[in-house]
Amino acid sequence: MKSVDAHLAEILATVRPLAPIELELEQSLGATLAEEVSSPVPLPPFDNSAMDGYAVRAEDIADVPVTLPVIDDVAAGSVELRAVGPGHAVRIMTGAPLPAGADTVVPVEWTDGGTVSVRIDRRAEAGNAIRRAGEDVHAGDVVLEPGTLIGAAQLGIIAGVGRRRVWARPRPRVVVISTGAELVEPGGTLERGQIWDSNSFTLTAAVREAGAEGYRAGSVGDDPKVLLDRLDTHLVRADAIITSGGVSMGAYEPVKEALSPLSTVRFEKVAMQPGMPQGFGVLGEDQVPIFTLPGNPVSSFVSFMLFVRPALAKMRGLPAGLPETVTAYVTGPLRSPAGRRSFLRGVLEGDGTVTPVRGQGSHQFAALALANALIVVPEDVTEVAGGSSVEVIRL
Ligand code: AMP
Ligand code: MG
Repeated sequence: MKSVDAHLAEILATVRPLAPIELELEQSLGATLAEEVSSPVPLPPFDNSAMDGYAVRAEDIADVPVTLPVIDDVAAGSVELRAVGPGHAVRIMTGAPLPAGADTVVPVEWTDGGTVSVRIDRRAEAGNAIRRAGEDVHAGDVVLEPGTLIGAAQLGIIAGVGRRRVWARPRPRVVVISTGAELVEPGGTLERGQIWDSNSFTLTAAVREAGAEGYRAGSVGDDPKVLLDRLDTHLVRADAIITSGGVSMGAYEPVKEALSPLSTVRFEKVAMQPGMPQGFGVLGEDQVPIFTLPGNPVSSFVSFMLFVRPALAKMRGLPAGLPETVTAYVTGPLRSPAGRRSFLRGVLEGDGTVTPVRGQGSHQFAALALANALIVVPEDVTEVAGGSSVEVIRL
């Protein structure tokens, strides 16, 4: 059997970062920057007030209390500014440009708030409550490096330096297809022998949680021809494809039957539990990666976390590898098959303990929904005593 590490290594050696494209700012959340972003101007662009108050000359308020005439009122966005002469005050709002002549701002709280004249009760040092031009960024400074994941704050600074578009690797578009003649769309009624299709929803949501675009392309039954047709339809717009089911050892394994003859997709047993039957390869001229995950709901979810999620990270141009683990103390004993790495579902608590959930079968996805962690038991370990330390993947 192939090891988990070898399977992931092969996947990561095959998938490539997506080519950068020019994205509108609104489309760039979750994309990965592929250029240096610099500021054409200093930020802030001009000296301005950090508070609502009065712009004055510090020397005029050396002795307080003092009353000064208010010669002007400047709000943020004001352009016509009167200079502050000796003995003058200008009422100023946060973000408004500092008028010439003034070298300090007295917060309104230290005054009587007057509009014709103002009584200042507390002295302010020169430079008080003034935000200097270039204090955040100098003109020409790089504010974001290539490889940066664009989150809300990064999007903000891109807009803040005046950019409308950026070069970035987009979020991969991932098509999710279920197989299984027993599957019915949720919302419909079940006949004998049928179950509702949950995997396509889980996997599409997992794709989105992984920072990619997920498209649920429904279920194709167990007919390999229908699957090939569906793949054909979606290959043109997909950066990756995920299927669930149809890769085991039985009959009616449409994914295996459809793709084995192509020889660009390999079906293998990976030494893990859940999720032993795995397939991976590429399809079509564009060598679109395809992940053929097992059908049991827990197996397909765990396989996604171990193999697809890191692959999507690589496609996004981000660091990619097995999910990080933290050390925890297991509250009860664990069992695991020899020679396979187990990923048991557990509840990780704030006190650093992890408790396995009841129902560790690969079909028990209600139990998965209660878990917030996967407890990793290495291949050479078959029993773990309660109280032992274990490695845990947070979900
Ligand atoms: P398979 O890998 O196709 O042999 O499926 C293994 C198990 O997973 C069977 O019990 C299937 O009914 C179940 N299964 C397959 N696909 C789905 C799905 N999309 N949603 C829920 N269960 C599924
Ligand atoms: Mg099936």
